Amino acid sequence: MGMKVSITESGAELGRSLAFVFTTTAEKIDLVSDSGCFDGAIAVEGTILNTGRSFRLEGLIRCTKSFTCDRCLGHFVAPRSYYFAEDFQQNGTDDEANSAVNFFDGDVIDLTALVRDTILAAQPLRNLCRPDCRGLCPKCGADLNQGDCGCDRFVADPRLAALQGLLKK
Ligand SMILES: [Zn+2]
Ligand SMILES: [Zn+2]
Repeated sequence: MGMKVSITESGAELGRSLAFVFTTTAEKIDLVSDSGCFDGAIAVEGTILNTGRSFRLEGLIRCTKSFTCDRCLGHFVAPRSYYFAEDFQQNGTDDEANSAVNFFDGDVIDLTALVRDTILAAQPLRNLCRPDCRGLCPKCGADLNQGDCGCDRFVADPRLAALQGLLKK
């Protein structure tokens, strides 16, 4: 089956918008990311709009991501949603130079690549369990989100130390 939207209905009328809903999995769309795992269902909900020049697909992807926090090394499972809005044009129509447009053959638009690429492009360079995750103590390894371990974590700036050495002379 896959995630395919037919333009025959929306294509019949300018400005007409039709809703679509799909459910897929990471496995079905070959979604593999270094950033984490997407287990379970991936829900895709959106609309297709006939703009006259192209078909605009807009919507939201909802999934569950499991990942390891880069700072505290904890394992987390959290819901994620990703917005998309892309224009599609039938192959063979004008405007072939327009690089902002995706092309499709026949009268069916396959959303597989769109969904996969939207999720991949939205992944952060670093996974954090929360923006202010305090991470692990470099001395004793305690999770600082659970409270302070009491270690003296002051690390002298080597440039400052060198300067202080000069001033003492
Ligand atoms: Zn964390
Ligand atoms: Zn410590």
